[in-house]
Amino acid sequence: MSTSTDAGGRSMSTFAELHGRTPEGEWAAPGRVNLIGEHTDYNLGFVLPIALPQTVRVQAARRTDGLLRLWSAQGGGPVTELRVAELAPGAVPGWAGYPAGVVWALRDAGHPVGGADIRLDSDVPGGAGLSSSAALECAVAAAYDDLYRLGLPAPELALLAQRAENAFVGVPCGIMDQMASMCCRPGAALFLDSRDLATRHVPFDLAGAGLALLVLDTRVKHDLGDGAYAALRAGCEKAAALLGLPALRSLDAAGLPAALAQLPDDLRPLVRHVVTENARVEAAVAALDAGDLAALGPVLTAGHASLRDDYRVSCPETDLAVEAALAAGAHGARMTGGGFGGSVIALVDATAADRVVAAVTAAFRAAGHAEPRTLTAVPAEGARRLA
Ligand code: ADP
Ligand code: MG
Repeated sequence: MSTSTDAGGRSMSTFAELHGRTPEGEWAAPGRVNLIGEHTDYNLGFVLPIALPQTVRVQAARRTDGLLRLWSAQGGGPVTELRVAELAPGAVPGWAGYPAGVVWALRDAGHPVGGADIRLDSDVPGGAGLSSSAALECAVAAAYDDLYRLGLPAPELALLAQRAENAFVGVPCGIMDQMASMCCRPGAALFLDSRDLATRHVPFDLAGAGLALLVLDTRVKHDLGDGAYAALRAGCEKAAALLGLPALRSLDAAGLPAALAQLPDDLRPLVRHVVTENARVEAAVAALDAGDLAALGPVLTAGHASLRDDYRVSCPETDLAVEAALAAGAHGARMTGGGFGGSVIALVDATAADRVVAAVTAAFRAAGHAEPRTLTAVPAEGARRLA
């Protein structure tokens, strides 16, 4: 098979080189950043993400022999060949588990899907808390929905993509990432109620307000993340059970003091974070609705303090990026994503963006950390067909 390489020496096989035919179409699904509402989705609360311009793209064509042939420019290695009929949780190691999991979830839900030839490419930074995994799942879900003429609503596809990650890959994520990747719109944040998947697109015109949203990828991922996520989730479920609630979502700020008094010491900070974080999402939506985007800043910063002090999922690198951004004049900043590394967002005057990036970079250098990778987030479109 002949292959070409890009400027970085990366293998760039075309669909025809990989699969010996032309694709039936091409689809894209974006990564996301969450403005506010962290660790609330699995507590059935509120979140407020935006989609990024960065996407996973999938070229695909159906097969009639039940084979699923997968290749990714970022995956490394040759085409992975699987039998759709034999897909089972835990059976597909590595990155191919994400796209294969989507096909499994569709089939397991009773949808009439067969095999496909697939080529993936992406510019969503992986492992940076920007949800390249959901972008990958949602791109494949959108492709299958079209190719096999399923006509499923976007929230249904998001749930199937989440099931792929939870049950097939084995990552216990909430529903935010997949809903953001499927449903976001340009120029808006997605106000999502994780309990019933109700959504509202809240206008978020950063440029019109003279603002910019920086994403500072710390490029660190601390190992304790995976086990800690599951433990935090279990702690929230235990607290809800002790309080006799279906989920912590059912508790509001007014009921918080009485609820805290009933809980053991170790669960109190978790509950306090979830309840105050839901209130922060509502405050952020109110600021956006009022067209007062700068008022979002203090809400972000308060969210970071809660994640650092109560939920305890920040780390020295994310704390430093937040502090340096605020010291350089950001309206607000916080870690985004699950924590233990990943990215920080900073809301800044557009004219101050370069200064804030320089200040965070200098602070990282002084502390002996690798330089953060920076991108400017523009609220972009959710999953869609490109060709
Ligand atoms: P995040 O979703 O925050 O980027 P995750 O650890 O949840 O981080 O997901 C990253 C994983 O998703 C990668 O290790 C890889 O297995 C898979 N992945 C994401 N994008 C791609 C891609 N373009 N090609 C192959 N695998 C990908
Ligand atoms: Mg992910």
